[in-house]
Amino acid sequence: MTAPKPLAGADLCVHCGFCTQACPTYLTLDDENDSPRGRIVLMKAIADGSLAVADPAAALHLDQCLGCRACETACPSGVPYGHLLEETRAKMVERRPLSLPTRVLLYVFATPTLAAAFFSAGRALRALGLAALLSRLPGRIGIMMATLAVSHRARARDYRPRAGTPSREDVAVLQGCVMEGLLAPVNRATERTLAYNGYRIVSSPGQKCCGALHAHAGARDAARALARENIAAFEASGAAYVAVNSAGCGAAMKEYDHLLADDEEWSARARTFASRVRDVSELLAAAGPIQAAGQPRKLAVDHPCHLQHAQRLTDPPAKLLAALRLTDAHDLPDASSCCGAAGLYSLENPGLSQRILAPKMASIAASGADCVATGNPGCMMHIGAGLLRAGSRVSVRHPVELLDEAYSREANV
Ligand code: SF4
Ligand code: SF4
Repeated sequence: MTAPKPLAGADLCVHCGFCTQACPTYLTLDDENDSPRGRIVLMKAIADGSLAVADPAAALHLDQCLGCRACETACPSGVPYGHLLEETRAKMVERRPLSLPTRVLLYVFATPTLAAAFFSAGRALRALGLAALLSRLPGRIGIMMATLAVSHRARARDYRPRAGTPSREDVAVLQGCVMEGLLAPVNRATERTLAYNGYRIVSSPGQKCCGALHAHAGARDAARALARENIAAFEASGAAYVAVNSAGCGAAMKEYDHLLADDEEWSARARTFASRVRDVSELLAAAGPIQAAGQPRKLAVDHPCHLQHAQRLTDPPAKLLAALRLTDAHDLPDASSCCGAAGLYSLENPGLSQRILAPKMASIAASGADCVATGNPGCMMHIGAGLLRAGSRVSVRHPVELLDEAYSREANV
């Protein structure tokens, strides 16, 4: 029998409880087992063998964790909560396989031909209006259809960089699975805004899904395989930076060094790769960015958890939006709280996910905004679905889309 392996970093927890008020599940459920502190106790017990890996009560509380990592930002002791959760879920998956729908979805996302067919079916449901119609159904199906129905069309006309713009580094853009499949205009906006600010966009054939959903679910082997393929693809592109417009994907790719730390062949390459990953807002902020007048609107800003907590980025997204020179743009009062999307969470835990979304819907309504900006596909679709089901006309846009439209207007006058 192998000796239990301690959970690295769990002992940093001093049980102070500072994290509890940042935790959306604790604030919603009022149960210590659904707080970061309580979950760390459960994870330590699983690691030292005093609690069975497949203990159903522990599994319930760990499954209910969003992985939003707000607890990491709040923690004064530096507990690496996200890594503890991923390691524990990987151990649990060995004894308690993921549900069949989750396994199917993860396999589809990791297989480009299947992902292309899957997302093209999703786009067809959206284009035919069936997704919007079926979004009125109760339960998972209604939520899934509302997520698909969130309308997303390109509003910017193509434009070219201005003469005299200083040239910057070569950048390869992560296309992603969901982003290219359902929100492709965001990828085009990313490429155009970067090029407009002087970056040279290079292609990187062979790139795949980043593996974030796989790592969060505990499917670490699949996540590692995807990480290796992406490292090889982006290395071959020769790009100085890998630009990512999805907060969740960026957070995962910046941590490929951790994911592949035990892989002798890939660990050094993973470290170099991770140091080159940038959220699109970081690259635009480093370039200025060029300013352009945004459409007059009342804008409410929401901060994706994986941008502010996992990547600890607050200034670059603010600089990107400041380039729009909007006179009425404000953070939502609960901009720092999770919306409840969390990858596949909204489908796996629909009831709790909707309860966590509810205060965000109320603060959007109270803000009087006609548009919400957020830099993560999961948040865009989850908040957008909530608004659709509530009959709201408020739109949800990625910040680079707003900048892209402003550049397009100025360049095409
Ligand atoms: S804030 Fe950090 S040290 Fe304090 S209970 Fe939470 S995880 Fe533990
Ligand atoms: S990751 Fe989010 S939901 Fe999970 S324990 Fe931390 S704050 Fe709570």
